[in-house]
Amino acid sequence: MAYGNHSAKPRLILIGNGMAGVRTLEELLKVAPEKYDISVVGEENHGNYNRIMLSPVLAGEQRVEQIILNGEDWYRHHAIRLYKGEKAIHIDRARRTVQLASGEHLPYDKLILATGSRPTTLPIPGHQLGHLLTFREIRDVDRMLHLTKTLHHAAVIGGGLLGLEAASGLRQQGMEVTVVHSGSWLLNKQLDETAARLLQRTLESRGIRFCLNARTHAFLGDAQGNVRALEFQTGETLEADMVVTATGITPNVELAIHSGLQCSNGILVNDTLQTFDPVIYAVGECVQHRGRLFGLVAPLYEQARVCANHLAELGIARYVQKPEATKLKITGIQAFSAGDFMGEEGAETLTFHDREQGHYRKLVIRDGRLTGAVLYGDTQDGGWFFELIQQKVNIQEWRDHLIFGKDFCLATSDSSTFPAAA
Ligand SMILES: Cc1cc2nc3c(=O)[nH]c(=O)nc-3n(C[C@H](O)[C@H](O)[C@H](O)COP(=O)(O)OP(=O)(O)OC[C@H]3O[C@@H](n4cnc5c(N)ncnc54)[C@H](O)[C@@H]3O)c2cc1C
Repeated sequence: MAYGNHSAKPRLILIGNGMAGVRTLEELLKVAPEKYDISVVGEENHGNYNRIMLSPVLAGEQRVEQIILNGEDWYRHHAIRLYKGEKAIHIDRARRTVQLASGEHLPYDKLILATGSRPTTLPIPGHQLGHLLTFREIRDVDRMLHLTKTLHHAAVIGGGLLGLEAASGLRQQGMEVTVVHSGSWLLNKQLDETAARLLQRTLESRGIRFCLNARTHAFLGDAQGNVRALEFQTGETLEADMVVTATGITPNVELAIHSGLQCSNGILVNDTLQTFDPVIYAVGECVQHRGRLFGLVAPLYEQARVCANHLAELGIARYVQKPEATKLKITGIQAFSAGDFMGEEGAETLTFHDREQGHYRKLVIRDGRLTGAVLYGDTQDGGWFFELIQQKVNIQEWRDHLIFGKDFCLATSDSSTFPAAA
């Protein structure tokens, strides 16, 4: 479906109607609303929605209508043509056209690739069985919610943020849920072991079971061709009539590769989010910037701002990578981490553990500056710690009180010398 009018303005096409791409258009419309004649090609059959809120939708806490960021009226209002449910299959860079799966060819002057990424799947025996799912799109959540009506035993492979949010949602839908994780503690990229054990205990009290240090070797099927169990490398099995794999993401780079753009694991971009073709930009999880791939919204929104600045030909912004913070979105559970929270080699760590309340804090300090933090149970100081990390504030003077948080530091120090981030 397409909206909008033809005009003599330069034509800008966005491929990928997701969070990073549409944010780029929003930023562009703020600084140069009339500059381009814009078209958006999006494979998903929806307007632009808040993907991170799929977790509350799965848990039954929100409805899909509540997570739409820009409905079709937004595209109409900005005279943006939306090709919804359409896949871009080829970019002819010599002719500057994008070919859609429907056969249409769209001419462009500038192009933004924001094709995101897809869930990594396990290419193990049985991977073609039914009721093996991933967790990425509205369609996936619809499928899961439909299956929870008739199935009982879910296994979630992957004890990362996405896996735990899927497990919690399925549990809230009444399923028996086991999380299968290859690491020896949950969220091993976001939490240290102590915080992870506290989290595990809370999730167990909600009825979720865990198999840690477990590697799935095969999916076993039933007579109908659906999954009935997982088989581990040890030969042990786990009964499951639905399996959600959440073991990571793979950037969608195929379109860029076939168009001759320079790619490694992601589409290579410079500090202005330009690919090796100067009229083609790329933002979001599909890009690789200075060797790094991305999987959280905050850096993508910053990329969007910088990319829009260059599309508007203001030319003053540069994308700089920053430390990231993560938060688990499971109602009633507070877990937060930021920066280099493991604190290896040469780092000093401060910890606080209230076993009674189940509260835990760990701060990592290097050269008089906070470089990482893990908080479990009470995360209200997370934002403040994150600011101290980002702004590289010298915390030496507050070091002894820092672990107790902002309010305690304010009450016990001379406010004129309080950290700038306060
Ligand atoms: C359940 C869930 C929870 C999450 N929670 C958090 C969180 O709490 N915090 C956080 O920071 N991040 C979270 N994330 C990650 C966050 O959602 C992503 O980082 C973000 O959506 C990536 O944005 P993107 O625009 O790069 O990709 P996407 O949002 O995936 O958009 C890419 C779009 O491009 C389309 N596309 C791909 N190829 C083509 C093509 N050839 N033609 C047309 N269209 C195409 C895709 O269909 C997709 O719609 C979560 C992700 C999920 C799935």
